[in-house]
Amino acid sequence: MARALIIGCGAVATVAIKKCCTASEVFSEICIASRHRENCEKLAQELRPNTKTVITTAAVDADKAENVSKLIKEYKPDLVMNIALPYQDLAIMDACLECGVNYMDTANYEPENIDDPEWRKVYDKRVKEQGFSAYFDYSWQWAYKEKFEKAGLTALLGSGFDPGVSQAYCAYALKHQFDTIEEIDILDCNGGDHGYKFATNFNPEINLREVSAPGSYWDTDANGKGHWVEIPAMSIKREYVFDEVGKKDMYLLHHEEIESLAQNIPGVKRIRFFMTFGQSYLDHMRCLEDVGMLSTQPIKFQGQDIVPIQFLKALLPDPASLGPRTVGKTNIGCIFKGTKDGKPKTYYLYNVCDHQECYKELGSQAIAYTTGVPAMCGAMMVLTGKWNKPGVHTVEEFDPDPFMEALTKYGLPWKENFNPVLVD
Ligand code: NDP
Repeated sequence: MARALIIGCGAVATVAIKKCCTASEVFSEICIASRHRENCEKLAQELRPNTKTVITTAAVDADKAENVSKLIKEYKPDLVMNIALPYQDLAIMDACLECGVNYMDTANYEPENIDDPEWRKVYDKRVKEQGFSAYFDYSWQWAYKEKFEKAGLTALLGSGFDPGVSQAYCAYALKHQFDTIEEIDILDCNGGDHGYKFATNFNPEINLREVSAPGSYWDTDANGKGHWVEIPAMSIKREYVFDEVGKKDMYLLHHEEIESLAQNIPGVKRIRFFMTFGQSYLDHMRCLEDVGMLSTQPIKFQGQDIVPIQFLKALLPDPASLGPRTVGKTNIGCIFKGTKDGKPKTYYLYNVCDHQECYKELGSQAIAYTTGVPAMCGAMMVLTGKWNKPGVHTVEEFDPDPFMEALTKYGLPWKENFNPVLVD
């Protein structure tokens, strides 16, 4: 019996909220809040007749910590689930600290304005020291570790699929399948087809920033020292045959969980992340990038300030509307190479999810589903005390077993392959 404040009511949050309402024994009360309360209320009205969870709604602009603090003080939740955008992570963490409440999110912090000189100074230093230039990284949220520890509060970072389940798979493999893991390849395949020439499966601004950034992976030199290797965007391509999906092209991307896994999986030598893209998506993205449509820098247009990527977002299909038209499956998981009982071993742990099945169950496509279900399961772990560790932690730092059990129960069972084809 607990009370959760859920910030965000978009594609991912809608799935998480619907799943919370099927687990009223844990989520006895929820408050859904975003800037546009009418969206939260619309969803609440749809859900109230069929759930024991008591649902209230609120308007909040989570860009400012004081707004979130005010709402927390009124609602008194046991946990704040941040399923808004990564831009709000720090403001919501500040509010949780001020009010003494546990925190969770689905993506690590990045600023909305990457031209802010204060942020830029820290960013430039990190690029130089660490060697990867993505706009998002864990340093901002890891800086809260001591504060959360001292306050006796748990902050769970990145409880979606990847990041999120991908890290639980690593923890599971280490706990049950390996003595040491040397190599991890995280493969994210979306074999779904929505029929549009170009659309993004989750928030376009966040998605396009991630995909257009240079790729990078974790590697180890001859002296055993781990380091980042950065490559131009989309310059490493592989073909892979995915179970239940078939053959797809996939590209090496920078991805946030590589950063925490490199610290938390002892002895790991190489970690890479690959995502599948169709040619049409890549052609459109390149063209939009070339003409400046992915820029976050405001330009003057007919007397008004317009941010090109925000304008583009307004033109693109709403990711939440892709559900009815998307057919096909996703296949997301990790291939491990390491040793068990002194012998070399490989192992592939993954989930396959069907877009139309997700739509039939919850009215959402599989990308929102595969992110929203782990968000709800992660929240459930914190609220039931199974994942209770003061400080700021990523998913692989917790016991994977109860989380993976919950994932299976709420719609994301895993599959195993003990002789997988490896990625060269
Ligand atoms: P959407 O754009 O669909 O929804 C975002 C929601 O956040 C909206 O309800 C919006 O409502 C709310 N919001 C935005 N700004 C604010 C604000 N200032 N204050 C309060 N609420 C705000 O995004 P998605 O659902 O696609 O993505 C949600 C999160 O999930 C993102 O952080 C994304 O990066 C992450 N994600 C993680 C994945 C993973 O595997 N880990 C995969 C996919 C996504 P309103 O406009 O009313 O404020």
